[in-house]
Amino acid sequence: MLAALLYGQEDLRLEQVSDPLPDAGEVVIKVHAATTCGTDLKVWRNGGHAKMLKPPTLFGHEAAGEIVAVGAGVTKWKVGDAVVANNSAPCGHCFFCLRREYSLCPNLTWNNGTFAQYLKIPAKIVQHNLLLIPDIAYELAAMTEPLACVLHGIARSNVKPGDRVVLLGDGAIGLMFVAKLVLDGSQVLVFGGNDKRLEIATKLGAAQTFNYHQVQDIPSLVKELTDGYGADIVIEATGDKSVWETAIACARPGATVNLFGGCPKNTNISVSTEQLHYSELTIKGVFHNTPYFVREALSLIASRKIMFEWLISERRPLKDLEQVFVDMRERKVIKVAIQPD
Ligand SMILES: [Zn+2]
Ligand SMILES: [Zn+2]
Repeated sequence: MLAALLYGQEDLRLEQVSDPLPDAGEVVIKVHAATTCGTDLKVWRNGGHAKMLKPPTLFGHEAAGEIVAVGAGVTKWKVGDAVVANNSAPCGHCFFCLRREYSLCPNLTWNNGTFAQYLKIPAKIVQHNLLLIPDIAYELAAMTEPLACVLHGIARSNVKPGDRVVLLGDGAIGLMFVAKLVLDGSQVLVFGGNDKRLEIATKLGAAQTFNYHQVQDIPSLVKELTDGYGADIVIEATGDKSVWETAIACARPGATVNLFGGCPKNTNISVSTEQLHYSELTIKGVFHNTPYFVREALSLIASRKIMFEWLISERRPLKDLEQVFVDMRERKVIKVAIQPD
């Protein structure tokens, strides 16, 4: 089959590799749509990822397709089933899994290789995080993984209906946050760097959007827009150190600040102890997703309450993958649905 392999920094090669065969407990799917993601862009630019993968490796982690082979002992699935697989699954028996804190499982099974004609799904993922797709397009179902991360992020952010939420970042993840927060009744103020993406934020229901290139001082503007208090909830979705610090500065006393975008290794930020203590801030990081949110994500996509197709800028064949990454680096596209055939 044709598959993309990541060898290192911005070194992505399309190669012919042997078709995957399922071992016991595994299934193989024919990939119908594999969506690109901000994490892929980060991994491509850095040439690796702390947890998910080490090059040389098959690459890509969001996909939906059709089962073409099942391994020994697989009884719940059959050839022809339309499915989406999360890119990870918890072990189910460690200290954290026993406390249902699945995203903290140190033994997560990761799966990479969606930018290929076929994808093997490891047994742990078949067991915990493989879902049947209802009657929706494969490219929409492929967005289950990032949306599951977003739903996990929102669930941990203490958001109440009517809250004024500041969202920093206009990537696919940021826009998914906007859509779901609006659906839940929040007023969302979005700061991003790209007018086209901010237009989509508006279409998704953002109360106001701002291009940060035209804003001198984001925290002061947020205070002006919130009767001098600051935002009830702040969500950071860029993975940039200075934006993490800006996020904290936008918070009202009593606010929750969700620092969602992962920064490069060994990044440190500074926090005013005075603000943290006297303003009783809750500052938290939220990582990845859990089986519960994977299911919630697919049912939200299937409900068609949100136009997730607005996040897909283009559909492209696998042979264009390298160009797609260049386009993502230049922020010309949000998400691209790679269709291997
Ligand atoms: Zn992703
Ligand atoms: Zn575990």
